[in-house]
Amino acid sequence: MLVLKFGGTSVGSIENMIHVKNIINDGQKKVVVLSAMSGTTNALVKISDYIKNGNVDEALIVIDALKKNYQKTVKTLITNVALHATVLDYVNHVFDTLNSLVNTKHDILLYNQIVAQGELLSTFIFSHYLQQENINVALLPALDFMRIDKTNEPDNYYIQQNLNRIIAETPDADIYITQGFISRDAEGEISNLQRGGSDYTATIIGSVVKAEEVQIWTDIDGFHNNDPRFVENTKAISNLSFDESAELAYFGAKILHPQTVMPVRALDIPVRLKNTMSPASYGTLITNQVHGEGIKAIAAKDGITAIKIKSARMLLAHGFLKKVFEIFERYETAIDMITTSEIAVSLTIDDTTHLQSIVEELERFALVEVDDFMSIVCLVGNAIIYHADTPNLFQVLQDVNVRMISYGGSNNNISLLINTSDKLETLKKLQRYVFESSVVGV
Ligand code: ADP
Ligand code: ASP
Ligand code: MG
Repeated sequence: MLVLKFGGTSVGSIENMIHVKNIINDGQKKVVVLSAMSGTTNALVKISDYIKNGNVDEALIVIDALKKNYQKTVKTLITNVALHATVLDYVNHVFDTLNSLVNTKHDILLYNQIVAQGELLSTFIFSHYLQQENINVALLPALDFMRIDKTNEPDNYYIQQNLNRIIAETPDADIYITQGFISRDAEGEISNLQRGGSDYTATIIGSVVKAEEVQIWTDIDGFHNNDPRFVENTKAISNLSFDESAELAYFGAKILHPQTVMPVRALDIPVRLKNTMSPASYGTLITNQVHGEGIKAIAAKDGITAIKIKSARMLLAHGFLKKVFEIFERYETAIDMITTSEIAVSLTIDDTTHLQSIVEELERFALVEVDDFMSIVCLVGNAIIYHADTPNLFQVLQDVNVRMISYGGSNNNISLLINTSDKLETLKKLQRYVFESSVVGV
């Protein structure tokens, strides 16, 4: 079985939904995971924010505008009279529910309920469109099988049991449509896999159905060697290893949710990135195989906080680092980068929920400095630290203020910590020094 995931742009217009139909309608049995139509989840987050801040009128305005868009889409796409009535009823029901929630007390459960509506809408509309086109389709409700546990990890046993049971109820379907992103939590409440989580849904499903391949269909022809939103002349990479893509996704490459490859890596299920608008383009194939050496791609992650911890006594005295790490461990705060000197250790975090308590505890035995609005720029590629062209990247140090460098933690990654205000310039310069200059010193 294949698992194909289509992102927001891929289902964001009638024209693109027709592209998706043509891609999936090849007679092969498959699971198709859909995101919300582009812009919808952002609009739902906005509605939730307005409710949180007591701006009921603004929330109602956004709901109404979104409802009109959906009614228009359904009117054009679903021309069969009976199917049109069914889908319009569903759309109206979703928006009636949203309207009824605007005066509810805001909490995480309400946020989760609101943001779940995007995928529920897109899958209901698209599966009825396929039905109209006489395609043998079944809609699998993700909330009936997708579940995360208390640590936000997928509950694989539960997912496998329930997904197989639901698939077995409609054994003759050719195409199983389901919602990306949404899930239940350990208490059975509506939850989700975090923004961009439909990619993760696809690989979780891929791992439980033992798919031959998971395909992530999006609006670009594969994984590029730098962030195309900020840098010109980026190029698609044909092959990446699981390790390379995991590092790039973790360090900010928006094309993949950070956890995407985790469920399929151990099972060696390939992940293929494809462009819905240009299906003939090769895209990117992510496998266990390592291709080439040296810097393959650059990504950047914002929202980083750096913490410098200076010891009055010699830093690396026995037990000092242990004391530091125990504090981060206790507050379940992951550390991304670390550098040390004789008298200080600097590290970075992206989750500042417990920053104040962490700093208070560190200050009991050390001087602490905190810098925020930082970004990690991450360079990734097999054996990057040994490659002859790698020193080119250090030219960037001549004119960008680099606060930390991590080199040699693995053979495949070099990370730089910079001010976020320097990010664009740094990415552009690295593109020039690393990918566009074949001669050292250009
Ligand atoms: P989808 O809605 O299909 O999930 P996303 O917007 O989440 O799509 O991801 C695709 C986008 O990721 C691209 O349009 C591109 O702007 C952005 N992107 C950021 N970094 C990269 C990269 N290294 N390679 C390709 N795309 C990237
Ligand atoms: N619709 C969700 C989001 O916008 C999930 C996804 O698109 O992957 O974050
Ligand atoms: Mg995405």
